[in-house]
Amino acid sequence: MNLLYNSTRDAEKKMTASEAILKGLADDGGLFVPECIPKLDVTMDELKSMSYQETAYAVMKQFLTDFTEEELMNCINSAYDSKFDTEVIAPLVKVGDTYHLELFHGATIAFKDMALSILPHLLTTAAKKNGVTKEIVILTATSGDTGKAALAGFAGVPGTKIIVFYPKGGVSRIQELQMVTQKGDNTAVVAIHGNFDNAQSGVKAMFEDKELEKELSEAGYQFSSANSINIGRLVPQVVYYVYAYAKLLENEEIASGEEINVTVPTGNFGNILAAYYAKQMGVPIAKLICASNENKVLFDFFRTGVYDKNREFILTSSPSMDILISSNLERLIYTIAGQDAHKNAELMIQLKEKGVYEITSEMREKLEDFSGGFATEEECAATIRKTYERTGYVMDTHTAVAAAVCAQYRKDSRDDKKCLVASTASPYKFIHSVMTAIDEKYASAGEFDLIDELSSISGTEIPNAVNEIRNADIRHERECNADKMKETVKEILGI
Ligand SMILES: *Cc1c(COP(=O)(O)O)cnc(C)c1O
Repeated sequence: MNLLYNSTRDAEKKMTASEAILKGLADDGGLFVPECIPKLDVTMDELKSMSYQETAYAVMKQFLTDFTEEELMNCINSAYDSKFDTEVIAPLVKVGDTYHLELFHGATIAFKDMALSILPHLLTTAAKKNGVTKEIVILTATSGDTGKAALAGFAGVPGTKIIVFYPKGGVSRIQELQMVTQKGDNTAVVAIHGNFDNAQSGVKAMFEDKELEKELSEAGYQFSSANSINIGRLVPQVVYYVYAYAKLLENEEIASGEEINVTVPTGNFGNILAAYYAKQMGVPIAKLICASNENKVLFDFFRTGVYDKNREFILTSSPSMDILISSNLERLIYTIAGQDAHKNAELMIQLKEKGVYEITSEMREKLEDFSGGFATEEECAATIRKTYERTGYVMDTHTAVAAAVCAQYRKDSRDDKKCLVASTASPYKFIHSVMTAIDEKYASAGEFDLIDELSSISGTEIPNAVNEIRNADIRHERECNADKMKETVKEILGI
């Protein structure tokens, strides 16, 4: 079967998976979605004994039907290799009464590696398949983790250039250092004077800019996106939910067919949407618990049916979730609108023009798979501290938001199904907040002084990604105002 894709704002025009990956965002500003979510064609019993790479093939071949087996296997094997510090790629760790799916064992120690280590391979394969000869320019807005993961994925990949925008002062020192020390002649990093939403809106505007597209084309370039709106990022993320369920089964933590809940620390809504797709593929997931930090737009949305981004933007200790416009939510809105592209487009126009929209009661009924929660800064810190005191396990600030929300949900709902928490970053990446949560005495210490201390109190090895930046040179110092992103891109490309 050939699965085709269409824009969430135009259901008529269909494309292949490789075309959708190449384009990133549809011309009408919508996001690409598969016509339907395919079912797994292997049983859980078969999946139980599969490696991460084998599971990736079993899941991804269902979505990317115009890739040959050889093409897809090549992409998978180039991505999930020794860049990860564990052979199992995504280990499952039991912490108290929940299961943490550690998605931070890749090159940049955050879950973005799960998808961004494979996207460059999917993209260059897609380019070859479609006879693209232009150089692909990846434009990315990052709230911290995507940027470095995309840079690491694309650095040195022939036929590509990558430009990353991040909010100056809106990312951790370690995140910033990871980006500005990036090697590779095809990489550029720009700090913008604004927040993540400014960066993301700027990138979206460039993708929609026809005149810019023409200028680029004349200079031999074509834009593509590594942001989580690219279907080539979403599909690889479905894999680890299938894998985690199969491993729970293999380890006899659950019985065959037993439903579990999944809690995901959410920003742009990509990771949790992947869990929703995994459920639709046939994984026995009951509730999808969407965990927000104090920027709780999504919590309010699930509670009221009103999405309202008109509010104060709060800088928290989980910066990768400091987001007021969750781009991937559009894919869910399209689904609950009964795949009505026109209805979805209307709501997205309201979001763009007024910053707010309300879904119908009929649409709200289709949200019953989801539950929203949020954690304050204090709750997040208390979760890190108490979990460390009780179990010795140290989690990062983003994961702590999910762990706190998962515990609240359990208490409030009396739903005692086993719960999987998506653990999205290594504690080394947000070390200052993590250590201060454990003990106030660390508050005055510098991030780099805490590295050895964390290693010693948690009994974990210092990740390579951290050792690398301790002595690396700064290679990127460019800054610009949020309204000058387009000019900056042209300058970097020399057009
Ligand atoms: C990006 C990110 C998130 C949010 O994921 P979304 O797919 O954007 O919802 C959560 N935690 C960390 C550490 C991240 O890097």
